[in-house]
Amino acid sequence: MHGKRQMSAALLYRPALLLSALLLATTAAAAAPLPATATGQAKAVLTRQKPQENGEKETVRIGGQEFEVPPQWQGLRIEEKPPARKELAAVPRSLAKNHGLIFLRRDARDALVAMAAEAGKEGVALTIDSGYRSIRYQKKIIARQLAQGKTFSRITRFVAPPGYSEHRTGTAVDFTPSNWRFAATPQYHWLTAHAASYGFTETYPENGHRHPWEPWHWRYRPVGHHSATAR
Ligand SMILES: [Zn+2]
Repeated sequence: MHGKRQMSAALLYRPALLLSALLLATTAAAAAPLPATATGQAKAVLTRQKPQENGEKETVRIGGQEFEVPPQWQGLRIEEKPPARKELAAVPRSLAKNHGLIFLRRDARDALVAMAAEAGKEGVALTIDSGYRSIRYQKKIIARQLAQGKTFSRITRFVAPPGYSEHRTGTAVDFTPSNWRFAATPQYHWLTAHAASYGFTETYPENGHRHPWEPWHWRYRPVGHHSATAR
C-alpha cells in the first residue's frame, strides 16, 4: 500500500519516467514473444520509486555530510509535494502537548479535531506532540542527535531521514506519550477502535516487517474518511 501510493506519486512528478515507462510498455506489447529479461526491465521501470543508476546508493545530506539511507527506509522517500504554507492550519492548543503550536494540513487538522472531540466525550483525552515538520527541521532533529554522538543508523531506527518522514506531508501526528508506553494507554485502545473512521491509520504497526512498532505515529488519509470531517 505504501509502495503503491508512492509509485503513483513518483509518476505524477516525473513525467519523463512515466513517458519512458509507457514507451517500454508499448514496445513490450508490440514485440511478442519477448525474452523474459525485457519484460522484467519494463516492470522494473514501473515499480521502481526512484530512478537511479545501477548500484547508486540512496543517500541524504545533513550538515555537509552524506549518509547512506538505511535498508528499512530505502525506496520510501516521500515524493508527495509538501503542503504550501497556506494549506497548513494550527492545531488547537488544547490538543497539543504543553499547549504548543503544531501545524497540520487543514483537512488532517479538521479530522483530528473531530476525532479528539468524540474521544473526549468518551473520557479519552488525545494530545499530540508533533505534526507537520519540514525537511529542514527533520535535518535539525538528526543533526542534534549526531552532535550527541549517536550514529546515523541508530538515530534512523525511530527518526526518518530527511525526505522520508510522513510528517513532511502535514498529515502525520505523534500522539503523547510518543514512545512505546503509548500502546498501553486508553488513548491507543480508543484509536485502534475508532481512528480509521476518521481517516487515521497506524503507519508502523506492531507486525510491520521493516520498521519497529511506533504505536504513537498515525497518518491521516482523506480516502474513506468520516463524512463529518469532509470539507
Ligand atoms: Zn511520527
